[in-house]
Amino acid sequence: MKYTSASEFFKQRYGTKVYRLSLSSGCSCPNRDGTISTGGCTFCSEGGSGDFASKGDDIRKQIEDAKKKVDAKFPKNIGINERKYIAYFQSYSNTYGDADRLKKLYMDAFHEPGIVALSIGTRPDCFNDEIYEMISELVVQGDVYIELGLQTIHEKSAKAINRGYELSVFDKTYQRLKQIGAIVIVHVILGLPDETVDEMLETVDYLARLTPRLDGIKLQLLHVLKGTELGRRFMDNPFKVFTLEEYCYVVGECLKRLPKEIVIHRITGDGPKKLLIAPLWSADKKRVLNTMNQYIQKL
Ligand code: SF4
Repeated sequence: MKYTSASEFFKQRYGTKVYRLSLSSGCSCPNRDGTISTGGCTFCSEGGSGDFASKGDDIRKQIEDAKKKVDAKFPKNIGINERKYIAYFQSYSNTYGDADRLKKLYMDAFHEPGIVALSIGTRPDCFNDEIYEMISELVVQGDVYIELGLQTIHEKSAKAINRGYELSVFDKTYQRLKQIGAIVIVHVILGLPDETVDEMLETVDYLARLTPRLDGIKLQLLHVLKGTELGRRFMDNPFKVFTLEEYCYVVGECLKRLPKEIVIHRITGDGPKKLLIAPLWSADKKRVLNTMNQYIQKL
């Protein structure tokens, strides 16, 4: 079975290999600062689900530092001035803040050499008219990917993970973002302890049927991490996590349900190894991806 991976999609769209630079906007998250709750989503680590990001107030310096981390991955025949990157604001909620400050930050990032797109990770409840206006102005500069952390469509699971907003909020934000020309990617977690496989697939079915069509999806294996509520729960009373074989099956079923035009930005996850409690097999990312790709090819 063939699916469109992010690297293939980026290569087609930008004409070359593109790497993401993990950056920080300095935003917090309403699910951590007390606006919605202080505990955050039960799976979220201290780093706000972005433990690899460069940090600091100076975006130019952050970009320089982040480039150093990925430059070795470029093929040797791609010269320094030909390298293309996506400025990726991953941790916390990167539309949760003053729209003028964020507009300057994101415009500055767009104007740095080699940056072909912005990718902004956030929650669907962190939007207002000023933020939509800011995004409308950004999309004129180039591609703007907005990554929405949905995880599940099921309200009981959303409550169990302390997500803090309802599905209707996602629906409204999704429609507005598509209207203003953002490229929308949705994050789904596979393996939440209170969900059945059928429920996980219902989430994917829902996203597959969205109109206008969804642009991209990240299928993420649940990582149980130290320092999280889920980690504490697991240590007190270990719950069932997927084996690699089970995970391959579930991802395969997800891919069968998604139209080919939806770009698959991720089929597993990037949990920091030093924090990982379970499933431990996920630490060997190379083996995991090889096994998964072999499985998917045979479908
Ligand atoms: S919305 Fe994101 S940053 Fe905020 S608590 Fe949940 S996972 Fe963490």
